[in-house]
Amino acid sequence: MNDELLEKLKILSDAAKYDVSCVSSGVERKNNTVGGIGNAAASGICHTWSADGRCISLLKILLTNDCIYDCHYCSNRVTNNVKRATFTPEEVAELTIQFYRRNYIEGLFLSSAVVKNPDYTMENIYKTLELLRNKYNFWGYIHVKVIPGADPLLIQKTGMLADRMSVNIELPTKESLKILAPQKKIENIILPMSQINNEITRTIEDKKSFKSTPRFVPGGQSTQMIVGATADSDKTILNVSQNLYDRFNMKRVFFSAYIPVISSPNLPAVSTVPPLKREHRLYQADWLMRFYYFKSEELFTEIDRNLDLEFDPKIMYAFRNIDKFPIEINKASYEELLRVPGLGVTSAKRIIKERKNAELSYDSLRKMKTVLKRAQYFITVKGKYYGNTKLEPEAIKNELRFKEIQKQMSIFDYMQ
Ligand code: SF4
Repeated sequence: MNDELLEKLKILSDAAKYDVSCVSSGVERKNNTVGGIGNAAASGICHTWSADGRCISLLKILLTNDCIYDCHYCSNRVTNNVKRATFTPEEVAELTIQFYRRNYIEGLFLSSAVVKNPDYTMENIYKTLELLRNKYNFWGYIHVKVIPGADPLLIQKTGMLADRMSVNIELPTKESLKILAPQKKIENIILPMSQINNEITRTIEDKKSFKSTPRFVPGGQSTQMIVGATADSDKTILNVSQNLYDRFNMKRVFFSAYIPVISSPNLPAVSTVPPLKREHRLYQADWLMRFYYFKSEELFTEIDRNLDLEFDPKIMYAFRNIDKFPIEINKASYEELLRVPGLGVTSAKRIIKERKNAELSYDSLRKMKTVLKRAQYFITVKGKYYGNTKLEPEAIKNELRFKEIQKQMSIFDYMQ
């Protein structure tokens, strides 16, 4: 690799680190082409997580950081004094293949700032995929960003070659966009999301009649929201997420704790610590919405518009709805079991299955390896309550705090 390309790689891989929406799971495609390279496999062939929880395993780069826009929160914004670089499509394709052959990566995550204009940028993203798929015969996983405002035809053509696409919403309200990303229009973000959703549905339908119909972004679409750059509450963020899941069949909404890099009167001070705990709580709540049938509004009250940082969203829901507990394990529906703090999808399914054979006892739950550490406070088994305190939020909170201290103290036992 020559020095110029190496320098570009340094700049554009570093600039890509703030984009967190790069999980590769959900695509299974064998490489059936003669002489082709790369497979995309289910369960995320090419994702891994860095110590701070960010995905790093794909070749994750920007096509360019030479942006014409001036989003206040972004280090690539036009008014920021940073080194600029732009790859050609051929350079990105070459790099991907070189890295793939050396076993460094299994796929590509290609994002981009907006260079010249949205169409020009999107066209270069398309050309990159065109080269990879058709010239290099590369069939590994590719996730690309859609540039808001780009021609729908370019988006359509790119989507026929990509595994996943994402249009980053970045901020949850029009007002926040207006303050921090004045050149971005919410309709330019929503329209491509809608187009991607429609194209996915259309190709799935066509495939039923014509088996050879190629799939449009088989891994679906995702988006990303920045957390903590504005005063938007968790309730607003999750209401918008819920809307995106419902309207556009979004695979994932990713949350990215805002890392202050720029001093601006519209942003938190540069010394502000990134709200990683808040980001974590949002992911937990998002999980509840996707797999546990929770609606975002159930996770908040009119007063509590942010998730609790001490206790997770599921147990906080139980505390606020304590009158719905305890739940009898031998009678509760699957949906009710999923609402018990500490019980996951696997445990709930196992309980439903096993109780068909015989009424479950507390011991049988243990033998089934059901984790009861938290669940015990919210269930009865054969009518008996096993929580070693009253069914009251404050009493349970104190118990859990005490257990947490004991757990932390036990770490020192190993150190003696
Ligand atoms: S368009 Fe993207 S890259 Fe450009 S300034 Fe805004 S967030 Fe940054």
